[in-house]
Amino acid sequence: MDTPLDRLRNALPPEAIDTSPEGTFRASLDNLRLSRCPEAVLRPADEEGVAAILAVANDCGIPLTTRGAGSATTGATTPAAGGWVLDLSGWTQLAVREETMSAFVQPGVTVKALDDAAAQAGLAYPPDPGSARHATLGGTIACNAGGLRGAKYGVTRDYVMGLEGFLPTGEFVRWGGNLRKFACGYNIRDLWIGSEGTLGIITGAILRLIPRPAVRRTTLLAYADERAALDAAAAVRKRRVIPSILEFLDRETVGATLRLWQRVAPDKLAAFPTKWTGQTPALLLVETDGEPAHADTEMAAVLEAAGAHATHRHAARTEEEAETLWTVRRGCSQAMFELGDTKLNEDVVLPLDAQIPFFEIVDRLRRETGLPMPTFGHAADGNFHVHIMYDAGNPAHRDKARDGIRRLMEQVVALDGAISGEHGIGLAKTPFMHLQHGTAELGLMKRLKETFDPNNVLNPAKLLEPFEIWNFPRTKVRLPWDH
Ligand SMILES: Cc1cc2nc3c(=O)[nH]c(=O)nc-3n(C[C@H](O)[C@H](O)[C@H](O)COP(=O)(O)OP(=O)(O)OC[C@H]3O[C@@H](n4cnc5c(N)ncnc54)[C@H](O)[C@@H]3O)c2cc1C
Repeated sequence: MDTPLDRLRNALPPEAIDTSPEGTFRASLDNLRLSRCPEAVLRPADEEGVAAILAVANDCGIPLTTRGAGSATTGATTPAAGGWVLDLSGWTQLAVREETMSAFVQPGVTVKALDDAAAQAGLAYPPDPGSARHATLGGTIACNAGGLRGAKYGVTRDYVMGLEGFLPTGEFVRWGGNLRKFACGYNIRDLWIGSEGTLGIITGAILRLIPRPAVRRTTLLAYADERAALDAAAAVRKRRVIPSILEFLDRETVGATLRLWQRVAPDKLAAFPTKWTGQTPALLLVETDGEPAHADTEMAAVLEAAGAHATHRHAARTEEEAETLWTVRRGCSQAMFELGDTKLNEDVVLPLDAQIPFFEIVDRLRRETGLPMPTFGHAADGNFHVHIMYDAGNPAHRDKARDGIRRLMEQVVALDGAISGEHGIGLAKTPFMHLQHGTAELGLMKRLKETFDPNNVLNPAKLLEPFEIWNFPRTKVRLPWDH
């Protein structure tokens, strides 16, 4: 009797099926580093191949997990139920359509490749996750990824006009098109966005582009503590300015980040004002953009509103200096490992007026658990990355981290916040879905999944069933975005 894999071998060329230990290991995890090797990694060349894979997967009940770059931080890309991984990272066709200010992309195109191509036509693709050099458009659409510029420019969802691909059952479908408006029945396109590959496989997307801002102005503002920095961010809102970036870094983050760069690449700090008066500060990194006069006027308004209590300010005079400041910011995520060997990387989102109470909660948890909790994020849209750092080999640390994360999520929801603003749920946040959603809401989500995917083949075990990540060790592995 033919095995399911034998049936696939009849339908796909040999190079499309990888069962090697290296290949299956690489596809076994994402940035959460929770590994489960699939039986095979499948790299079909075209839609016919995807249809053939879905036909066998449905017939034989084989779990199928679609994969882009594997940079998800939640375990969304780990083939937790085994089965096969569908790797679409090699699907990299891209066409910018200048006249309609849009682009057609295949799912393996990276966010940066699209923005670079858009730049050639004076256009921009604004969603800018910190992983933009690696993350694919298939993955970022499936996660509804955000980034630093969310408050002014929105998130991935705001740029998706059309999607095409496959239902879990194998039918090819198109939702929307190269159209600025679309009011034709249920909006399944938006249901696919952020569904983490559980409701469909994206094989093509039409994305909206915008005119590229002519200039960017960058200023760093230092404050004595987090409260002063967040008060300054609130003052910017009161001034009715929405900078393209208003990034907040707490003192623990700043200390760890400067230590990292001092150790690995001190030259990166050349233009960075490290000679603070007094202790390590909390920071706001601000960017305004647009035509030069507009960007300057907005920056002046930001400085008027937020500069009063700053202990230090530093305006980048050149593109190069600005890039130094952003390079330092991009190192924050990796710098967390200066404070512990394992991190819980959360991306909670708070109502704009709940940021100070939220930081009081983080501070209390930090004191009560005794664990570092460096926190940074997007003060303009209330989306903060709280990192609970601990030593995985120390059972007491582990217990405190586990308790800390639960209490953090409870408090976030109590403040009318949400357990994820951009990374999604994957495996890691499934234990907290019941805090965010009531029984009726979760029940409808489950029924939707059953309707789309009656055989439960597409990325099963994600989002809706609690998964205990603490029962599984994290794999020590170097990933492409690690410094
Ligand atoms: C250093 C670093 C910085 C980051 N910064 C940010 C940030 O600022 N903002 C942010 O939002 N995220 C950020 N992330 C998280 C991550 O980059 C995003 O979640 C991104 O959307 C994942 O893209 P990917 O191509 O790696 O997708 P993958 O990890 O491969 O997949 C993610 C999910 O999408 C599904 N999927 C992938 N391709 C398809 C497809 N073609 N069709 C259907 N489903 C698919 C997968 O099954 C999985 O559920 C960061 C990650 C790292 C490592």
